[in-house]
This record gives sequence, C-alpha cells and structure tokens, in this order.
Amino acid sequence: MKFHNVSPDIAEFGPGDPELAVVCNVHGDEPTGARAVRRIIESSPTFERGVKFVVANPPASIAHRRFLDADMNRVFPGDQNADDLERRLAAQLVEETAGLVTLAIHTTHATPEPIAFISEGHPRSLEVASQLPIASVVNETPVVESSFSSTGPVVSIEAGRVETPNAIGKAEMLIRAFLNNEDALSEGAPMYAPDTTYFEIYDEVEKPSGDESYELLARNFERVQADEAYARSTDGTLLADDPFVPILMSQSGYSSIFGYRGRKIGETVDDAKTAWTDSGE
Ligand SMILES: [Zn+2]
Repeated sequence: MKFHNVSPDIAEFGPGDPELAVVCNVHGDEPTGARAVRRIIESSPTFERGVKFVVANPPASIAHRRFLDADMNRVFPGDQNADDLERRLAAQLVEETAGLVTLAIHTTHATPEPIAFISEGHPRSLEVASQLPIASVVNETPVVESSFSSTGPVVSIEAGRVETPNAIGKAEMLIRAFLNNEDALSEGAPMYAPDTTYFEIYDEVEKPSGDESYELLARNFERVQADEAYARSTDGTLLADDPFVPILMSQSGYSSIFGYRGRKIGETVDDAKTAWTDSGE
C-alpha cells in the first residue's frame, strides 16, 4: 500500500505559538502516549504556554503496527521525498518540532519502570530529563543512530510495558511533570520523585538466531558480572565476557537482540554533563 499526503496529526493548545511539544505514536503499536495525552486534554487544564501535541505516525497507528515501511526512530532526520512512509513522516516531525522542547512517549516489553533516553551533545535534553521524576536517564548515542532524540532538544520516554494501565498512568504523570517543569501547567510537583541515575548504552546484546527457547536471567539496571549467566536456553547458558548493566533487555522486544549493554555514568546531572557534552558545560 502506498500512502500519499500523509502527515502527523497535530493539535495545539495554550496561548501563542507552541514552544513545547509532546509526541506519541512514533511507533504505531504503542498507543499509551496518545491515551495519556487524551486524559490530560479531557481534564481541560489551563495551558500557560503553547503546547503542540503530535501523533507522529497515524497510518501505523491505525494498522496497530510498529511501522509500515521503516522503524521511524531509526531514520531521522528523514526525507520528505523518500518512498518510505516513515522517512517522510520523520522529516515532517522534525519540521513540526523544530525549536520546540519535546517529550516523546514510547512503551517497551522490557521494564515497567520509566526510562528517559537522550542523545549526547544536547544539553537542553539532559536538563529536561534530569528534572523529570524518573529513576534512569540513558544516553543512547553510542549505539542508536538516527533516533528522534538526535534531532534536537528531545527526550524520549519509555513509559512502561506496552498497553498496561500502569504505563498510561506513568506516561500521564511524566507528561504533566514535563509541562509543569516548563511552565506550561502549574500543578505542583509530583508526589514521588526517585533519585536519578545516569547511564549510557555502548553495545547490543545479540540474541542467538534459530533458538526461541531463551529465557532472560539478567534484570534491567542490575549489573551483570563477568562470567555471570545472563540468559539460558535448552542449549545452555550465555555468559557475560565483561561486566555490563542490562538496559531495555527483554525476551520478546526485538527480533535479533535482547537489548543493550550499558554502563553507569553517575548519580548527578553534573556527572552526565561532564560525560556527554563537549565543553562540559
Ligand atoms: Zn517505541
């Protein structure tokens, strides 16, 4: 099927030109963000700054598929003239969010606890992520190319497990916290704000092909030691050559990898700034 004249769906609220954006459905099979946005809109809040709400991939959302032609979160900045639907939509999304501080909402198969992903070299993204009530902020630059977060001040959130009520609630809480921190809503701080730890991913954890019996032993964000088994199947166990922190690891989230090898950077935003910005500012 070939889609013509397809664009992201956009709704704007608040006074003046939008200065902030909340993006959902970059992946069409992750409706959590859109449901959280709907809850917020239906509560009729008073927006004090302009906010743009974006459904990034309407055709994949209707089809309830991650993507139709290409994973959008791997083809940024996209191309208006590409044959691939997602490359065209990615280019439009970049245009729509240019200059806007942006929160993008995803869900995962890996972990119920929200995680913020940013790209290094965007100090504003780090600032936004560090102010969210979230336990883990991860720099994805070393492994993931051409993600949305590489295009500007964009923080991508994994809000929780795909299509669970818990994930919708967490997504809503994080969007409200973001809008509150950026002075678009004045609702007060959320009840619970965990201490934030900063990580980066540096490699993929490959899943051996042709064996679907693997069971994951590693737990996300719990360090795997050298020679420790992180997965097992009827054929045996997989042992870590070197220690790593498992990030977004799951049995079923991706076809060819379990997830990512990560390392801890530190427990303060200054640790992360030093590690991830050229000037250390
Ligand atoms: Zn996603």
